[in-house]
Amino acid sequence: MSQPVELHGRLFHPFISDTQITERTNELATELNEVVGLETPIALGVLNGAILFHSDLIRAFSFDVEVAYLRTRSYSGMKSSGKVDIEWPDDLSVTGRHVLLVEDIVDSGRTLVALTKELHERGAARVTSVVLLDKPAARVVPFKPDFMGFEIPNAFVIGYGLDFDGLGRNLSSIYQVVE
Ligand code: 5GP
Repeated sequence: MSQPVELHGRLFHPFISDTQITERTNELATELNEVVGLETPIALGVLNGAILFHSDLIRAFSFDVEVAYLRTRSYSGMKSSGKVDIEWPDDLSVTGRHVLLVEDIVDSGRTLVALTKELHERGAARVTSVVLLDKPAARVVPFKPDFMGFEIPNAFVIGYGLDFDGLGRNLSSIYQVVE
C-alpha cells in the first residue's frame, strides 16, 4: 500500500488503506444493524464500482438480507458524462421493500439521485443510501447519503472497486491521482 501505482501511464498515490476501509465498513455495518429492524432489506449493489464494498459490507450485517445488483454508467476515463444509464435487471422487484442502496462514491450526485428516484417509482417502501466515499465539493445536484464511509476532496481515486478505464478495481486499498 505504501507504493504509488501506475495505470494507463498515470500515477496514483496511496490514500486510504485496506485496514482503514475494513474498520470503517464494520462501523457502518454496526450502524446499519441498529437501523434495520425486523424486515429483510435488499442490499442493492451498484456495479461495477461497489463490488468490493458491497461484499464486505453485507458480510458484516447481523440481519437477514437479500442481495441484488444493477449496473449504471456515467464515467468515461476521469470525467463524468453527465448522463446516467440504469440497467434494471428483469428479475428485480423492490415493491414494498426496504432497499439499502450500496454505492462506491458520490461525485456529482447524479447517479444516486437517478437511482433513488427509480427505486421510489418502482414502489420501494424505503431507500437507505450507503456510500463508501463522498466528494461533496463535486456535487452538481443535491444529494446527501444516509450513511457515508469517508469524506474526500474532489480528486479522482481508484482501487477497492473503483477503476480508471477498466484498471485498478482489484486493488485492496484506495489511491488518489497525482495531478
Ligand atoms: P456521480 O453520478 O455521483 O457523478 O458519480 C457516481 C459514479 O461515478 C460512481 O459510481 C463512480 O463509478 C464514478 N466516479 C465518481 N468519482 C470517481 C472517482 O474519483 N474515481 C472513479 N474511479 N470513479 C468515480
